[in-house]
Amino acid sequence: MALDSKVPSGPISDKWTSYKDHINLVNPANKRNIDIIVVGTGLAGSSAAATLAELGYNVKTFCFQDSPRRAHSIAAQGGINAAKNYQGDGDSTFRLFYDTIKGGDYRSREANVHRLAEVSTNIIDQCVMQGVPLAREYGGLLDNRSFGGTLVARTFYAKGQTGQQLLLGAYSAMNRQIGRGKIKSFSRHEMLDLVVFEGKARGIIARDLVSGEIERHSAHAVVIASGGYGNVFFLSTYAMGSNATAAWKIHKKGAFFANPCYTQIHPTCIPVSGDHQSKLTLMSESLRNDGRIWVPAKLEDAKAIREGKKKPTDLSESERDYYLERRYPSFGNLAPRDISSRAAKERCDAGFGVNKTGEAVYLDFADAIQRYGKEQAFVKGLDANDKALIIKLGRAVVASKYGNLFQMYEKIVDEDPYTSPMMIYPAVHYTMGGTWVDYNLQTTIPGCFSIGESNFSDHGANRLGASALMQGLADGYFVLPYTIGDYLAPEIKTGPISTDLPEFIEAEKKVKDQIEKFINNKGTHSVDYFHKKLGKIMWNKVGMARNAKGLSEAIEEIAALREEFYKDVKVPGTADSFNQELEKAGRVADFLELGELFAKDALHRNESCGGHFREEYQTSEGEAQRDDENFAYVAAWEYKGKPSDAVLHKEPLVYENLKLATRSYK
Ligand SMILES: Cc1cc2nc3c(=O)[nH]c(=O)nc-3n(C[C@H](O)[C@H](O)[C@H](O)COP(=O)(O)OP(=O)(O)OC[C@H]3O[C@@H](n4cnc5c(N)ncnc54)[C@H](O)[C@@H]3O)c2cc1C
Repeated sequence: MALDSKVPSGPISDKWTSYKDHINLVNPANKRNIDIIVVGTGLAGSSAAATLAELGYNVKTFCFQDSPRRAHSIAAQGGINAAKNYQGDGDSTFRLFYDTIKGGDYRSREANVHRLAEVSTNIIDQCVMQGVPLAREYGGLLDNRSFGGTLVARTFYAKGQTGQQLLLGAYSAMNRQIGRGKIKSFSRHEMLDLVVFEGKARGIIARDLVSGEIERHSAHAVVIASGGYGNVFFLSTYAMGSNATAAWKIHKKGAFFANPCYTQIHPTCIPVSGDHQSKLTLMSESLRNDGRIWVPAKLEDAKAIREGKKKPTDLSESERDYYLERRYPSFGNLAPRDISSRAAKERCDAGFGVNKTGEAVYLDFADAIQRYGKEQAFVKGLDANDKALIIKLGRAVVASKYGNLFQMYEKIVDEDPYTSPMMIYPAVHYTMGGTWVDYNLQTTIPGCFSIGESNFSDHGANRLGASALMQGLADGYFVLPYTIGDYLAPEIKTGPISTDLPEFIEAEKKVKDQIEKFINNKGTHSVDYFHKKLGKIMWNKVGMARNAKGLSEAIEEIAALREEFYKDVKVPGTADSFNQELEKAGRVADFLELGELFAKDALHRNESCGGHFREEYQTSEGEAQRDDENFAYVAAWEYKGKPSDAVLHKEPLVYENLKLATRSYK
């Protein structure tokens, strides 16, 4: 099937404007007869729900946490991009558009990215008007910092808590609509299936996670805002509960799944310390504004450090290899995430790793502390030769910028990052793949939309830092509320949708059957046992570097593990109570299917691009080697019963405004 992206024709900057005019023709009074379900209340879901309700639709929201405020979005630290050009450094809509396409290694849809860049500035205005406390400069203007893959400072932030503050803004807007009766919020509810009637999404089956009751909810449209699926790797920087179930269930009902193998491995995370761990912690990319990344230049020094015979501070400048600055002189420590992660792996694989496992590099603030300290001494008219004073002043500046991140690091690692460099290593962080959507953010199921990280998004094969929040809020506040009108306009006369339709009964039965099966399975191993095994296969064979042999093995191993899981998983407790093992069992069952499709997608893409690095396709300098002739398309997979039977559909990526080029950050 040829995929119709529904991108309007005409100049790129006119598409969105003319589109909005068209959609605004929908009579507000008619929206009162239309119900919309929003699954997920992270930044994408909350902002969408609040705006849809504001426009007049009746909205029901669902989240599995006890409050929408606890969505994974709250973890976002570093910031949100917008082309405001407040720093006067030449930023523009076009430049953000260009940086994002290039950052994604030319594997995203031009028109969507341009629209994202256009609305980026509105997001900041919207959030400021809501009272989100974005950082300001001394004079009161909003401040910016830089993130990877760009040479301008366009990242707005609220210390290291940007996601939390933005989510509180969206949640307040949502709460206002809850107060007005326009939104009904269902917390501790998990969507377990989509109901499709006469080819259209008409509702969901959800489980009340406290009582265990299975509920039917109908609507004229269903919006999936359920986040990303990086926890397929078991260990990641995601919240523990983040999962793929909502996205996977709609996939099984007909929504194509796009580019599942595009995953972001973030270069600056606290390294894995052992098998006991269930979670990894991000050290925000914002730290790369001031921190310098290095490993010892000599193997014997790396070995001595690993054995505890030397400390990093014992090594002089000439004994250090600032490998990002060496390899990418123009972007240096701000090289994009995929490139920085691979560079760290390359050094560690070559034996230069600095922790016990050999999988860590340094992120060092000693220079920044000196630089800021001297500046402060100058500003305050103090003695710039007083070493202790300089360190004290410099530390205070670093603390004011990144204090909460430093504190977090110290609490986890039990080392003071002000005096000894942080140890970091790449970890799974974001999924660029997801449900395929057209320009209207509609999936291949009419009436089923997907926004935020759950869709295959605007980031191509690699997302630039601070662009996920931008995309989530663009989708939620500015894009979906208008584009959904295109689908809903003919629905104004449909009337309420009955939950007694056979399709609801059938979907409900399927959900109940699976729950019963888990509860009655007399297996011997916990859900986590299988999840960890899956994670190991994914990390070792489908992780930062992939090859055909490993991927083929992974496909077989995951299919076998899935079979073992169904035979041998043990789920204690009952179906009609709060039962987190049961919740996890359903989620891991879906990961075990998604993982296989992920590997299959990675195996079919015989090129390296962005976060997808196939060892067979690299330049002599170890950089990703794309194959534009054969792979300049979105791979959208159709479910056919088993991941191995999934059918590939291609959406060709046509570049009319930018020229396909080899990425260079040198
Ligand atoms: C540690 C960390 C730091 C980050 N920092 C940044 C940053 O500085 N800048 C940036 O741009 N991006 C950052 N990101 C990425 C960004 O936070 C996420 O991509 C973004 O918040 C995702 O938002 P979302 O609304 O799409 O999904 P989420 O916030 O993941 O929300 C998903 C929602 O879906 C609900 N849900 C899921 N499944 C179901 C189901 N079956 N039934 C009912 N509800 C369901 C959940 O309850 C939740 O409400 C960071 C990510 C991490 C992990």
